[in-house]
Amino acid sequence: MSIAAALRFNPGDKVADIDTNATPGFDGSKSDAAPVQAERSERLAHLQELLFANNKAADDQRSVLLVLQGMDAAGKGGIVKHVVGAVNPMGVRYTSFGKPTEEELAHHYLWRIRRALPPAGHIGVFDRSHYEDVLIVRVHNLVPPDVWGARYDEINAFERELVDGGMTLVKVAMFISLDEQKKQLAERLDDPTKHWKYNPGDIDERLQWPKYQEAYQAMLDRTSTDYAPWHVVPSDRRWYSRLAVTELLITALEAMDLSWPPADFDIKAEKKRLAKA
Ligand code: AMP
Ligand code: MG
Repeated sequence: MSIAAALRFNPGDKVADIDTNATPGFDGSKSDAAPVQAERSERLAHLQELLFANNKAADDQRSVLLVLQGMDAAGKGGIVKHVVGAVNPMGVRYTSFGKPTEEELAHHYLWRIRRALPPAGHIGVFDRSHYEDVLIVRVHNLVPPDVWGARYDEINAFERELVDGGMTLVKVAMFISLDEQKKQLAERLDDPTKHWKYNPGDIDERLQWPKYQEAYQAMLDRTSTDYAPWHVVPSDRRWYSRLAVTELLITALEAMDLSWPPADFDIKAEKKRLAKA
């Protein structure tokens, strides 16, 4: 089975059963993955260039949105650096979503999301997303249950609208074990070059893992639709999660059936003009 097919969330799948150390769809080691990653990154960069070119030259209105969710230290930043970093930044629109600002809080929770959507021809990257509004918000009851409870259907309707507008959503939920998270947070504390990534609040969120597990389960159960399915990416092994997200993006772009846009000018005539110019 392909990596992308193996990672798709299926109704009935349980967050508690996820083997965060597994490598679904890939039965090799880290050193086997390295050359595969290099080759697949090139493939991704090629497909992204096609997406961008078709918008520029043929007014193709389609786009891709990568949605990254995961607990602290799950490796979202590494996906941005290593997977998204392999493509031309010209065609990428990256946004990270933290605690809402006062201005953002004064608006509907989808307000800041809509403003960050990728333009046609681009790959949008959401480092956290509107799903925080049914994750941290649910865990901490930042709004009453009837308010966050209404958001699942609302998010589905919102995503339906995006898909109908020509956007392909690649929704990725990254899961690491509590042990692996502890190791990653300890590394951040031990390494002065990683202190900037450390937030004392990460430990408070970690202590809420059982509640987060429930919130993730509800998110996957209620918002994995046929038009915008979730993918569950085991992320204890970072080399695997990077390869997996690369494959998910490739699969999405290949389904768009892109080819080089034909010239909308007379090539022969232009060559003649150029020779004389
Ligand atoms: P980081 O991704 O490390 O920069 O952390 C961002 C923090 O902001 C995380 O703890 C998120 O859960 C939190 N956050 C993101 N979106 C929201 C939201 N809508 N409401 C409350 N907290 C949020
Ligand atoms: Mg953080």
